[in-house]
Amino acid sequence: KQAPKEDAKIEGAVQIAIGVKKEVDFPGWYTNVLIKADMLDYYSVSGCYILKPWSYSIWEEITQWFNAHIKELGVQNSYFPMFVSQKVLEREKDHIEGFSPEVAWVTRAGSSDLEEPIAIRPTSETAMYPYYAKWIKSHRDLPLKLNQWNSVVRWEFKNPQPFLRTREFLWQEGHTAFLTKTEADTEVRQILDLYRRVYEELLAVPVIPGVKSEKEKFAGGLYTTTVEGFIPTTGRGIQGATSHCLGQNFSRPEMFNIVVEDPNDPTGQGKTYVWQNSWGLSTRTIGVMVMIHGDNQGLVLPPRVANIQVIVVPCGITARTTDEQRATINNACEDLAKTLKKSGIRAQSDLREGYTPGYKFNDWEQKGVPLRLEIGPNDLTKQQTLAVRRDNGAKQPIGLSDIGANVSALLDTIQNDMFTRAKNNYDACLKVVTRWEDFVPQLDNKCAVVVPWCETEECEDAIKERSAKASEPQDERAPSAGAKSLCIPFDQARWGQIASGQRCIACERDARRFALFGRSY
Ligand code: AMP
Repeated sequence: KQAPKEDAKIEGAVQIAIGVKKEVDFPGWYTNVLIKADMLDYYSVSGCYILKPWSYSIWEEITQWFNAHIKELGVQNSYFPMFVSQKVLEREKDHIEGFSPEVAWVTRAGSSDLEEPIAIRPTSETAMYPYYAKWIKSHRDLPLKLNQWNSVVRWEFKNPQPFLRTREFLWQEGHTAFLTKTEADTEVRQILDLYRRVYEELLAVPVIPGVKSEKEKFAGGLYTTTVEGFIPTTGRGIQGATSHCLGQNFSRPEMFNIVVEDPNDPTGQGKTYVWQNSWGLSTRTIGVMVMIHGDNQGLVLPPRVANIQVIVVPCGITARTTDEQRATINNACEDLAKTLKKSGIRAQSDLREGYTPGYKFNDWEQKGVPLRLEIGPNDLTKQQTLAVRRDNGAKQPIGLSDIGANVSALLDTIQNDMFTRAKNNYDACLKVVTRWEDFVPQLDNKCAVVVPWCETEECEDAIKERSAKASEPQDERAPSAGAKSLCIPFDQARWGQIASGQRCIACERDARRFALFGRSY
């Protein structure tokens, strides 16, 4: 519990622990971190959560970065309504089959039943594409590249988890249309690389880019690419974000009929159905970041997404400190924060009265602020500040001259160190396995496995069944106990080469590529 203000005055009574240890009770730890960092609150509708400013500001950083990059690719933002008529939603059979168990419907307005129920979008392909058919009349209207920042609703019945799996979530959904498959293929990978960079460069979270198996691909799409994260503490994979090539599935005449004259057809009579992509990144990003970097003191924020990167705390004030000395130290703290802001650093000074430095340290540690700068009487004499890193606790004095450049460099170091540490942890959990006997033991060992695989759906079903923990009842609401394919990594060379005649890990068929399998969220 947050120490009440009165207790806070007693030094030593302010050890605000996170309550439960990350390694002991991970789900309990996760929710404690979110609540104590003031990121989130529970809501009266199950599976829905309030994103408080401390987490929403991370989303803002992500949106700003991603928006700038997709605009460079010629994508424009727009907004489509959240309601989809039943007729339109159900037009693509495979698509609706994939989503129908999770679609929420509006059936009543006031006291009267609607003539036809109206769906709330679980994703917007079917809401948008009738208008793509209307707007795309010629190959000159291509490419069409729209994105929207919105929320979608998927009435999930699996155990909800703040950020990772919620019934309403914030995301961006990009929907693009091209004349050729080559252009669509190129964009799928460009977007996926932006997703990789959101995770790796902003959130300091390593991911593995790859393509989904047929079983795991987006309902109604041609193929799905993904960036796959991994939570070492639980040994579970997590799908980071997905970039889908929809092929011509939605543009076909019996679907949305998005068609143009083919400029490359010599007869001038030919028609082409457009090639489409859709891609999405959600607030799940925030949950993955918390799970990867958080520790038993609470949240640990990578500097690039931290709303406050540096907190300046006055120290060494005792009962004997005169008002004048106190004012001098407070002013120095304020000046330091101002100087840092001028260097483009998000800094703030914590001059709250009635709280000990120890209380403040804990408070900002729980909130994950990457760097704390302390200023006390001795520091002032020496014209320095004591810098304390949140990620590893390392302390070092930094001179106040040229402080902006030095702190900037230190924040970069923290960002890089956090990524390197997380990458080493991920790598340590990746095991190449070629014999089935080693498959389940490695999963039980909280690892993900890279295996030679035949890529058939039948085999994937069998693997899932054979790798479910015998001791664990198969609860559909729990994160899946059986392993599924997380992705077929693009970087196959990293794992060597599939030898000719190499068998699939789990069946008699020939292996085609290395695939990443794991238990997952
Ligand atoms: P999809 O349209 O299913 O490919 O989803 C796009 C991305 O949104 C996924 O890769 C997930 O990272 C994320 N996502 C899917 N379902 C949820 C959910 N219930 N809560 C939060 N994020 C989600």
